[in-house]
Amino acid sequence: METGLLSRIMDAAVFAALKHQYQRRAGYDKLPYINHLLKVAEALIRVGGEQDDALLLAGILHDVLEDTDATHEELALRFGRETADIVLELTDDMSLPYMERKWLQVEKAHLLSEKARKVRIVDKSTNIRDIFTYPLDWPLEKKEAYLENSIQVTTRIRGGNPRLDHWFDETVAWARQRLAEMYAAIKNGPK
Ligand code: ZN
Repeated sequence: METGLLSRIMDAAVFAALKHQYQRRAGYDKLPYINHLLKVAEALIRVGGEQDDALLLAGILHDVLEDTDATHEELALRFGRETADIVLELTDDMSLPYMERKWLQVEKAHLLSEKARKVRIVDKSTNIRDIFTYPLDWPLEKKEAYLENSIQVTTRIRGGNPRLDHWFDETVAWARQRLAEMYAAIKNGPK
């Protein structure tokens, strides 16, 4: 990795950390937002072997338009238009209800650019790992629905990086096992 890219990645990490600083991940007990963003960028590099500037910057910044007051223009000026455009592609319309946003991610998956697809797949893998690792105030059915929705989205956009696809498949297999254990614990638990 050349130093120019490293400094741009750190700039994006600090920018995202500050923009998201008063947020915690929804439903989790005080989990900082930046943890999620760093995991996504780290997996793109470590698992995917990705080195592209715009892709890695978008990995860190992918939730900043959706969840903070940052603007597309602000991102374009500081991180370049390609990065800003990838982030925009990955931004859900937060005025829509949760279920509709998830359905639209499936419906519109085929429209995503190649770089946006990679971020989306890693975002799903990372979220699934968090959902089945940390305490989260979702019923099991909602966790299961997130898993199924992620599979539907990923089925439509996989193929750009086999290593990222494989990591997603491993994540799903692990999550299914966790889910079965969780259902069993409810069934066999104290009445
Ligand atoms: Zn995300």
